[in-house]
Amino acid sequence: MLVVSLLTRGNEMNCPNGHGKMFMKKVKEKITFRGHALIVPVEQYVCPECGIKAGTVKQTAEVQKAMADAYRKTVGLLTGNEIVEGKKN
Ligand SMILES: [Zn+2]
Repeated sequence: MLVVSLLTRGNEMNCPNGHGKMFMKKVKEKITFRGHALIVPVEQYVCPECGIKAGTVKQTAEVQKAMADAYRKTVGLLTGNEIVEGKKN
């Protein structure tokens, strides 16, 4: 809890290794969800010095939503529902 409160000041996040302000970066995370490997786009704070990554509580909620969307897409593709609908193949 102490670490979290030190890291989050308003909308900024500082590197826990003492490199100062971290930058928001969009990355694609590979997450396994209900047995499916999903590629989920997430926004994370990244330190330009050491490359350490950190998220926020708000982002965690967004990641879960993105994960659910990706899961639905993956399942849809597997069952063929979305291929028929979208004709993206
Ligand atoms: Zn750092």
